[in-house]
Amino acid sequence: MTTILAVANQKGGVAKTTTVASLAAALHALDRRVLVVDLDPQGCLTFSLGHNPDKLDSSVHEVLTGDAKVEDVLIETAEGIVLLPATIDLAGAEALLLMRAGREFALKRALAPILEDFDVVVIDCPPSLGVLTLNGLTAAQSVLVPLQCETLAHRGVGQLLRTVSEVQQITNPDLALLGALPTLFDARTTHSRDVLGDVSDRYSMPVLAPPIPRTVRFAEASASGATVLSGRKNKGAQAYRELAENLLAYWDGTADLKTYDPAQ
Ligand code: ADP
Ligand code: MG
Repeated sequence: MTTILAVANQKGGVAKTTTVASLAAALHALDRRVLVVDLDPQGCLTFSLGHNPDKLDSSVHEVLTGDAKVEDVLIETAEGIVLLPATIDLAGAEALLLMRAGREFALKRALAPILEDFDVVVIDCPPSLGVLTLNGLTAAQSVLVPLQCETLAHRGVGQLLRTVSEVQQITNPDLALLGALPTLFDARTTHSRDVLGDVSDRYSMPVLAPPIPRTVRFAEASASGATVLSGRKNKGAQAYRELAENLLAYWDGTADLKTYDPAQ
């Protein structure tokens, strides 16, 4: 069965796109067939995987509006991941979809015919809680929330969790909240750990292991159109490899989901 994971947080800059690209590359390296979906009109995922959104004829936008077949829009990236790309046209999808019945189900319906070609689908949600994110959450089986380990970073988490709970009640009863993924983590200070302790107490949401360390490799990688996994060995790539292994073991039913204990 195909596992579909949405990566969501309405706050920008928390490493959603980085997590989707790096996790997908790590899953691919573990021999899984991986599809990533760019649901952000900015097209950062598309760009960071080596494709210029301005040069694409069609994107997930036409797929959501029913003007293109999903299989005609998919592109293969240099690293072997398959991408359903975004272009700026997607900014108009919000308004177009709002006038349609079943608007939250557009992505779920569009992906259905190709699901069996993939082991894992990872969806990069935009930094909002609008209809595109609702489509991502409705199509997914579980949702991962990247959280930057800084004071105030978790403002808005309550609102996101309310949205998840509404999706569970209305469009996707099977959606599971996997937990928060600590990103831009600085192991040298206690500050990151304090923030994470606060998050797990306040929202009773698991905090997943391992925390993703802050390293300059990520900026270098996305600028070059490749993921951190394709370059030199580094601790960021290693963390995403470990996350991929933890998630696969959990999905395969061979292990509990590994969580991070900020108190340790
Ligand atoms: P979002 O999709 O949530 O807006 P991005 O994945 O685009 O966030 O990341 C925002 C910025 O942070 C990017 O410039 C990215 O390269 C950088 N970044 C992400 N993860 C890390 C990390 N672990 N260490 C350093 N920089 C990171
Ligand atoms: Mg992004």
